[in-house]
Amino acid sequence: MIKSVNPYNGKELYEFEEFSSGQIAAAVDQAHKAHLEWRNSSFDHRRKHLKRVAELLREGKENYARTMSVEMGKPITQAIAEVEKCAWVCDYYADHAQTFLASELKETDAGESYVSYEPLGVVLAVMPWNYPYWQVFRFAAPAVMAGNTGLLKHASNVMKCAQNIEKIFLDAGFPEGVFSQLPIGSKKVKEVIENDKVRAVTLTGSEPAGRSVAADAGNQIKKTVLELGGSNAFIVMKDADIEKAAETALQARFQNTGQSCIAAKRLLLHEDIAEAFIDKFKKGMLKMKSGDPLEEDTYIGVMAREDLAEELEDQLKRTLDMGAELILGGKREKAWFEPTLVDKVTPEMPLFREETFGPVIGVTRFSTADEAINLSNDSKFGLGVNIFTNDIQQIKKMVPRFEEGAVFINEMVKSDPRLPFGGVKASGYGRELSEHGIREFVNIKTVYINY
Ligand code: NAP
Repeated sequence: MIKSVNPYNGKELYEFEEFSSGQIAAAVDQAHKAHLEWRNSSFDHRRKHLKRVAELLREGKENYARTMSVEMGKPITQAIAEVEKCAWVCDYYADHAQTFLASELKETDAGESYVSYEPLGVVLAVMPWNYPYWQVFRFAAPAVMAGNTGLLKHASNVMKCAQNIEKIFLDAGFPEGVFSQLPIGSKKVKEVIENDKVRAVTLTGSEPAGRSVAADAGNQIKKTVLELGGSNAFIVMKDADIEKAAETALQARFQNTGQSCIAAKRLLLHEDIAEAFIDKFKKGMLKMKSGDPLEEDTYIGVMAREDLAEELEDQLKRTLDMGAELILGGKREKAWFEPTLVDKVTPEMPLFREETFGPVIGVTRFSTADEAINLSNDSKFGLGVNIFTNDIQQIKKMVPRFEEGAVFINEMVKSDPRLPFGGVKASGYGRELSEHGIREFVNIKTVYINY
């Protein structure tokens, strides 16, 4: 049985029976059969269906958001915004997929040669709980527009969100099997990957999960996209707008109660402005309201599970034991973690070296731009970096030196359907969103004709 527990009050919400091997095989068969039909459908047909999904998401956003808040503790206002963003990505791919996948003529010695983009078939998506709708839709919208079918293995604590998503596709008129979910735990993922009818796998989650799924898929010579962890630096140069930087850093670290892969996890501050920045940041932290995720003005909810909060507490304790200084916060009660700010963090400490998945951030000071870049790159992860400065010409020259999938200047790292999203190093490989995302799971077919 898979259990969903409300992390705010510890109450068990539902129990789901895990699919047996026979049920898994039947679901894969159905997805495969659906693909054989769906791949022949026109872009217009697919577009109409995906537009309907976007409408349903907007119409039911309060309900869908509520499920998220109850299952994983996301503050309701942020949960509603997440559902709206899912509708956006559906509209985006409904409008642009045909252009992104149009055949491209190539000049060669042939009478005619071109590249066509064709669907691969059934794609397995292993997804995390932190953005339980967004992570799924940013995979599903391009997948179905490309003519693939999707099988979702969602995180065990957000099974009701998974069911909701499956139902939205069916209610929008998608044939059964074009998008469906498998209620299974992580141990059964290998079995799905090994099924011949599954052609590719995408995983958004932690590094260990990525390693395991990529190894299983590698054994089967199946394509993977991995969106893994991050430990993004938030760099504030001495010429930055401190007010704006502090305001943005608060959101970049604390939205979704700090549980975001692209959250700002390491504050790198120029020594000349560090005190002024910390002062503004602290004031902002004190204004953030913690509480019931279902209340509209709650900004800090609870973490998704108590064990995750315990893990964060351990990272904080080990960092303080190594000599860092606690400025604010530090308390934990079950799954609730007080927003926490730590100063004098050095690169050997857990808050710098490890991914911290919750509302805790450490400050490291630097004196030159070179030092800031080296500190930023001194991480096994490479998802993104936030930089605040007024010297745009200077920072643009430095962009190639950042080992990251994204560099955001005077803005926080965020995902946007129009821009590719993904990382390098231990943050994974492949890209989601934009034209790059939809081309990950297609057969890029070369056609060469002599008349
Ligand atoms: P997780 O523990 O890795 O779980 C993610 C998904 O993988 C879940 O569905 C989980 O299933 C499954 N899973 C776990 N271990 C597996 C294994 N050995 N084999 C197959 N499947 C496995 O991650 P999480 O705690 O849910 O999410 C937090 C992590 O995701 C963080 O590291 C975060 O940075 C990363 N993340 C990355 C991105 C990105 O776009 N780069 C976005 C969001 C989150 P069960 O729930 O059944 O264990």
